[in-house]
Amino acid sequence: MVATEMSERIQGILDRISEAARRSGRDARDVTLLAVSKTKPLETVIEAARTGLVSHFGENHVQEGQAKVPGFPADLPACWHLIGHLQRNKARKAVQFFDVIESIDSEEIASVLERICAESGRKLEVLIEANSSGEASKTGTPWDDVPRLADHVRANCPHLVLQGLMTIGPLGGDEKAVRGAFAATRELRDRLRVAPGDLPRLSMGMSGDFEWAIEEGSTQVRVGTAIFGHR
Ligand SMILES: *Cc1c(COP(=O)(O)O)cnc(C)c1O
Repeated sequence: MVATEMSERIQGILDRISEAARRSGRDARDVTLLAVSKTKPLETVIEAARTGLVSHFGENHVQEGQAKVPGFPADLPACWHLIGHLQRNKARKAVQFFDVIESIDSEEIASVLERICAESGRKLEVLIEANSSGEASKTGTPWDDVPRLADHVRANCPHLVLQGLMTIGPLGGDEKAVRGAFAATRELRDRLRVAPGDLPRLSMGMSGDFEWAIEEGSTQVRVGTAIFGHR
């Protein structure tokens, strides 16, 4: 394979993921790189996929998934994750175009997705987005409501496969605050487990903080800017 600028940038991120995993005594294979392709054209996403280094892609908006996913070459492996807030009137399209929905933030949206998936007998992987930074952030499930939402999904949504938690670290980059939010999210996940190995996924870490996230237990980092450049 020819080393393109794209493959070098992605390899650079993978190397930093490996280093962070090693520092924390973890296996780099336990950490997935999700390339956040929002606002970037489909050709750029295809170029990233063709490096063979990344096969998970994240979008914030259902419409962008709708615009990109159908045009993606069928011979390239790709798993599409919705990482932005989902409105109920977009739920049907979200189920159509995405493989994983990481931004479950209410019983209402979980129930809407359940109803849509039940129609076709489809199973959908989901993560609950937890608001780990309090007032400073408006996205995600309020922290204290996460256990009740997890119970709701488990009890009432048999077509939703609850895989774990997603969170966005507090913006601003204060290391102690960011690490604290990631560690708290990991501990919350641990408390929500009903069996060993349950809720295997912790989606934490973006371009500016993914190494801290891995050291605090992340199993999936969502990296946009560091791969695709500024938006
Ligand atoms: C945009 C976005 C990312 C990627 O952020 P970068 O700083 O560009 O790496 C990750 N997660 C979510 C939820 C986002 O909205």
